[in-house]
Amino acid sequence: MNLRRDDFAALDANDPLAPFLARFHRPKDLLYFDGNSLGMLPEAARRRAIETVEREWGQGLIESWTAARWIDLPEKVGGKIAKLIGAGADEVIATDSTSINIFKLLAGGLKLRPGRRVILTEAGNFPTDIYMAEGLAHLTGDVEVRLADDVVPAITEDVAVVMLTHVDYRSAALHDMAAVTSAAHAQGALVLWDLSHSAGALPVDLGEADFAVGCGYKFLNGGPGAPAYLYVARRWQKAFSQPLSGWLGHAAPFAFELHYRPAAGIKRAISGTPSVIAMSLLDASLDLLIEAGMHRIRDKAQKQMDLFAELVDARCTEAGLKLITPRDHADRGSHLSFSHLQGYELTQALRERKVVPDFRAPDVIRFGFTPLTLSYVDVWDAVGRLAEIWHDGLWRDPRYSVKAAVT
Ligand SMILES: *Cc1c(COP(=O)(O)O)cnc(C)c1O
Repeated sequence: MNLRRDDFAALDANDPLAPFLARFHRPKDLLYFDGNSLGMLPEAARRRAIETVEREWGQGLIESWTAARWIDLPEKVGGKIAKLIGAGADEVIATDSTSINIFKLLAGGLKLRPGRRVILTEAGNFPTDIYMAEGLAHLTGDVEVRLADDVVPAITEDVAVVMLTHVDYRSAALHDMAAVTSAAHAQGALVLWDLSHSAGALPVDLGEADFAVGCGYKFLNGGPGAPAYLYVARRWQKAFSQPLSGWLGHAAPFAFELHYRPAAGIKRAISGTPSVIAMSLLDASLDLLIEAGMHRIRDKAQKQMDLFAELVDARCTEAGLKLITPRDHADRGSHLSFSHLQGYELTQALRERKVVPDFRAPDVIRFGFTPLTLSYVDVWDAVGRLAEIWHDGLWRDPRYSVKAAVT
């Protein structure tokens, strides 16, 4: 490969998404490949935070629930997320965390499938998805959480809900959503998709899916601990119920009735008061993704990932980094993962050289590709610093082997 840095600068000069870079706070010199774990701060979100805190809260106080439409935020933000995942605005609501939404939807799914007591998922699924299912099984006492290596052949007639993460958090391997959904439906099971590594990363088409969840702080750039969202297909909304039946999911919250009656539609999936400040930031951040368009974002990410992988092949040959992400565009999400015995040390050394990937035990270095915050020159420079670190042996420094609390 005979590419030079100038070739990457030329790609930036012709990139229709390049103007978005300036709309984020991108710390100088930092090559940030971790927008798949915590998205960067959009200037619009920063301004919105100040507006929400100083004017809406500081000046407006309680009036802001109506005057600033705080009360509508879960539906408004849900409607924006719906645009990114091929759903109707009335099918998505922003609320709680991904973990809690998984619990609510699994419980709701079990209710819709009386007589079936199995939640089927993948052994490699993200831990919280499995843990929340286990918590529900513990609570109910008669639900089995079944783990399979290959889910489709394991969908049997006792399965109530098949729960999968669309893009694998380690390898970035992508499930065929339509195929799995129809295999589940053929056995009478419902499907819950976790879109935490999909929404904002690639165009999603939920098709016939029953339920979905996803988080707001990764590709959606909502900020640390941003609210998550959930999706309930329109056809289930009347029959759907969930156990965290709080007052804001009530049909008439301000009637203060004695007993719970679920709101019509997706609002019954809400429990309590939304985190207004956090949700306002997410609301502002989503506009950038919608404006840029998921197809353009996806195209640029694929190109950046191809270039990154080619550069690693050409310039870090002796390092022995093994790409565990599929090279085929149709089979991967928006990060590249390399396995390496010294993956943790390499990650630490990279961070010290201002290249930020992250590390997932036992041996995976992940580089996330978020085209609104990443230039082509960033791709060139990051692989250059990686090659330097390998050749200098910098990663061998013993202080890089000390594990931090958050990796
Ligand atoms: C990040 C992530 C979550 C996060 O769950 P929280 O409740 O926000 O901590 C859940 N599932 C998957 C697949 C994730 O990648």
